[in-house]
Amino acid sequence: MAAEAGGRGGRCVRLSAERARALLADVDTLLFDCDGVLWRGETAVPGAPEALTALRARGKRLGFITNNSSKTRAAYAEKLRRLGFGGPAGPGAGLEVFGTAYCTALYLRQRLAGAPAPKAYVLGSPALAAELEAVGVAAVGVGPEPLQGDSPAAWLSAPLEPDVRAVVVGFDPHFSYMKLTKAVRYLQQPGCLLVGTNMDNRLPLENGCFIAGPCAGRAGRAAGGPAGGRAGRPLRPLTGRPRPSPPAGTGCLVHAVEMAAQRRADIIGKPSRFIFDCVSQEYGIDPERTVMVGDRLDTDILLGVTCGLKTILTLTGVSSLGDVQSNQESDSASRKEMVPDFYVDSIADLLPALQD
Ligand SMILES: [Mg+2]
Repeated sequence: MAAEAGGRGGRCVRLSAERARALLADVDTLLFDCDGVLWRGETAVPGAPEALTALRARGKRLGFITNNSSKTRAAYAEKLRRLGFGGPAGPGAGLEVFGTAYCTALYLRQRLAGAPAPKAYVLGSPALAAELEAVGVAAVGVGPEPLQGDSPAAWLSAPLEPDVRAVVVGFDPHFSYMKLTKAVRYLQQPGCLLVGTNMDNRLPLENGCFIAGPCAGRAGRAAGGPAGGRAGRPLRPLTGRPRPSPPAGTGCLVHAVEMAAQRRADIIGKPSRFIFDCVSQEYGIDPERTVMVGDRLDTDILLGVTCGLKTILTLTGVSSLGDVQSNQESDSASRKEMVPDFYVDSIADLLPALQD
């Protein structure tokens, strides 16, 4: 039978073994989100390594797309192998990984082409700086930066690095008022770019618990493109026992810089199309023969729908079937986009279709 599809038509059907066989016959490439899909923290989703091993054995090309900016491609490749997901080692390690640290570096290389000695002020991790340096963009500002002086005049006279052409905001546990002030001063210089790695409002917790709330304003934000709407779901009222709240994510830091600089950032990560274009350029992808597998409707599935891919929601992470139904019933056109073609309880559900 032909694989049934939903998505734009508003259906989200369970990917049975029979449907999975039909779907996989029409697909060359599968792109996976990582947290909540392959693993939760340091624990692989049961059966997920076996499913990926079977997909590799069938000759499918795999790619891993993550909004996490605090790991290099090489570090992600090491984690994939350590948790049993395979992938190349040695010089080719990391070539399957498209994280926002690496893709931000590609974006800066593109936008700063021709600039003498391109340099960026980085509110982010050493991994983000390392990916920038690897493509020839000098990175300054990583690490703690305490307040200098005790007055606004002193804060505004702290020395700046010369020739900074971009401010990059990723996940930065050392984010501070001093850094925010410096970022704004760089952004006041003509032609200085403002780039955010992603707009995730929370970090995933190591034990796999998440807050399933979307970051208002994320939908439609794209690198180099116009800022999208601010239509997110309303915050849920707090009822019952409070759940542990994951730490604030990168989107909170990007918003702070945007607010202070009165500018919108170019966003690299999902659901921005730029991160898919990075994969597409390196893989030579045919969207119609490509699947995006993710656990979040507002990042993974929206990216897949926007880029014309087939989409599978796995229920091992953030989004639930209730969230899908809520999007289907919404009057908001942007939320109606956030509906997958198929869903599985776990990507281990692909195994029966791969075993004969
Ligand atoms: Mg995820």
